[in-house]
This record gives sequence, structure tokens and C-alpha cells, in this order.
Amino acid sequence: MARYGMVIDTLKCVGCMDCVVACKTENEVPIGYNRDWISYETTGKFPSLHQEIRSERCNQCDNPPCVYCCPCGASHISETGGIVLVYEDKCSGCKACMAACPYGARYIHPEGFASKCTFCIHRVETGELPACVSVCPTYCMSFGDLDDPQSDVSKLLASRSNHSLIPEAGTKPQIYYLT
Ligand code: SF4
Ligand code: SF4
Repeated sequence: MARYGMVIDTLKCVGCMDCVVACKTENEVPIGYNRDWISYETTGKFPSLHQEIRSERCNQCDNPPCVYCCPCGASHISETGGIVLVYEDKCSGCKACMAACPYGARYIHPEGFASKCTFCIHRVETGELPACVSVCPTYCMSFGDLDDPQSDVSKLLASRSNHSLIPEAGTKPQIYYLT
């Protein structure tokens, strides 16, 4: 079984938000909610400042507390590449998963169920890339099987310095940022 992940090049991202718009459109994300977003992190001391621009979303954690805490069996790990998903009809909207997620990746859909990035599993299962990856004008996002040493994502991780977000939370994020 594949283990899907993303590798995102922070040196190429310009913060244009095409990925955000593509996700909203593809997944019919309601007004006022987002499955992905752009964050800006500035480090250093003036005048030696560095700004990292990141396209962020659910990290599709390999050790997902949102799944373990779900009292309804709604949050689960799919057989397709280990993608964390929600069975909408099983979800009670209790928000336990939202409290457990260190990344603020989930929201409650106006219809009452938890929702978040799905890595566009409906596209991936037909051989397409997630919508965000497919529209990026700077080609800064790569998607693929982290367990396949020949995949683009594995090669990028082997050849570039990188980091994931809040690794100390122990959730084993499956999204990596090249630096
Ligand atoms: Fe960054 Fe690409 Fe998204 Fe633009 S579309 S914000 S370059 S990830
Ligand atoms: Fe769950 Fe949050 Fe990890 Fe996504 S980022 S798998 S919602 S803990």
C-alpha cells in the first residue's frame, strides 16, 4: 500500500493562493471555511530576516490523534495511501478531532460533520493529482508515495533539506517543506 505525502518547496512558493482557490472550487468548501491556507513565518533579526511562505493543510498524519480520539468511528485512515478521512454520515460533530489536531486543520461543515483536506482522494483514485498541486504556477508542490524510493517526493526529500510542522507533537506529519 502506498503512503501518500506532499513535498512543498518553500523557495518557490510566492503565496499567490491559487492552491487555496483550487481547493475551494474542487471540494465545494463553504464560504467562510478553508481546507488549505497560506502561512508566512518570519525569522531572524533585522536586517537579516528570512520569510518562509507555506501552503498548509491537514498533514495526513501517520499517527493521527484525530482518528484515535473519534468516539464515532467517523475519522479513519483510508486504504488508499493512508489518507485520513471522515465518514460524514457517522460524524456527530462533537469536535473531539478538532481539539486533538495540533494544526487547526479541521472545521465543522455547516451541515454538521467534521471536514478537512482529503488529498483530493476522489482525484487521486483516478490517477489525477490533488487540485492544489495541479494548479500551482511555480510547480512548488509534489505529491506521491513516500514509501517508493523512486517517487518524486522521495527523491526530493533525499536531495534537499526539509522540515515538517510541529514534529514534537508526535503525529508524524506526511507533508514536508523544502528549505
Ligand atoms: Fe504557493 Fe503554489 Fe499555492 Fe501559489 S499556488 S501559493 S506558489 S503553493
Ligand atoms: Fe488529523 Fe490534524 Fe493530523 Fe490532519 S493534521 S491527520 S486533522 S491530526
